[in-house]
Amino acid sequence: MLTPDEADRIIRAQLRALVVEPRPLLQCAGAVLREEVCAERDQPPFDRVAMDGIALAAQAVREGRRHFRVQGLQAAGDAPHTLADTAHCIEIMTGGMLPRGCDAVVPVERITLREGEATLDDGLEVAPWQNVHRRASDAPAGRRLLAAGTVLNAPEIAVAAAAGRAHLQVTAQPAVIVVSTGSELVEPGEAILPHQVRRSNVYGLVAQLRLHGFTRVADDHVIDDAVTLRRRLELHLATHDLLVLSGGVSAGRLDLVPQVLAELGVQKHFHKIAQRPGKPLWFGTAPSGAAVFGLPGNPVSSFVCLARYVLPALHVACGCTPRAPEAVTLAAAVRVTAPLTSFLPVRLVRGEGGALFAEPCPTNGSGDFTSLVGTDGFVELPAGPREYAQGFAAPFHHW
Ligand code: AMP
Ligand code: MG
Repeated sequence: MLTPDEADRIIRAQLRALVVEPRPLLQCAGAVLREEVCAERDQPPFDRVAMDGIALAAQAVREGRRHFRVQGLQAAGDAPHTLADTAHCIEIMTGGMLPRGCDAVVPVERITLREGEATLDDGLEVAPWQNVHRRASDAPAGRRLLAAGTVLNAPEIAVAAAAGRAHLQVTAQPAVIVVSTGSELVEPGEAILPHQVRRSNVYGLVAQLRLHGFTRVADDHVIDDAVTLRRRLELHLATHDLLVLSGGVSAGRLDLVPQVLAELGVQKHFHKIAQRPGKPLWFGTAPSGAAVFGLPGNPVSSFVCLARYVLPALHVACGCTPRAPEAVTLAAAVRVTAPLTSFLPVRLVRGEGGALFAEPCPTNGSGDFTSLVGTDGFVELPAGPREYAQGFAAPFHHW
């Protein structure tokens, strides 16, 4: 049976990159950039005044001058004035271009302005280029400011705006559908009989996808009937980039998903991973290019499989560089009995000195997701049987 890392490699090799689209900058928050953004001009584009005050020639102060006639006022956005001579100064505002003939700015708080004359505070020294943000000191024109694959958070959006970009090439939202299967399942809000089960995990899976920034997420439900299942999956395969199925992938007679997917020409890349929970995970790709994950229906299994495989695969398909999970330290010893990789739900807690620890929150089997409340994710523990001591460092996966 495959290990989780082997399964990951297969998934990444099979997923096709998602489509790129131009999008207005204000709608790019959280999107993945799929082009480079370079500096439109030097950054800053001119010697930029960094304080409200007066601009003058520092040389005049060094030669002993303390009083300067105010030649005029230059606001931010004005074309630069030219200093008449070193006995003058020009009132200037933050963000303006340094006037020609000036090389220093004295803040308004350090001068006295009276009758058209500025007097420097006693003892105030003035160094060349003080309070001036020099042209190109952040980046020269043409330098790459943002690389393809960057997730566009607030600073990156502002950088793109400063580079003059009204639109960016970003990954288009993939069309995703989460489909539950199971004749026993009943929607929240509908009357339920004692032998029926709430259709709960799909709500969690859709929420999780949305929380990760995927907004085109539909959902459907199909009973355990091969004809119905085939008809509905055929439609969804034609209209979505990714199908996340829940249930129907185990060994029961009514676990119809693998058989129906095969009939629809979906190529199976693997079925089953040496892991607990989530062993029956199924993965394939359709002739349309759509990817299909068949998650086990048990709620804990479906959440773990979404976080461990589906979400990272989606991020890679979006053009993000894959990142290894961070390691966290176990806050208590854990015993793994099965010869399978174990995914153990944990809560992150800060120890003394601020280090992060993972507090184990074992579930009462993979059907129990009440114990997931308040957890942050899960740690991945190599196959047992083995005892993992307190302090053992394990890869951590966020929900
Ligand atoms: P299956 O993978 O279809 O064999 O389902 C395994 C277990 O998970 C069964 O107890 C199902 O009733 C339960 N289950 C399947 N799908 C869901 C769902 N959408 N919500 C809650 N429980 C489910
Ligand atoms: Mg089922």
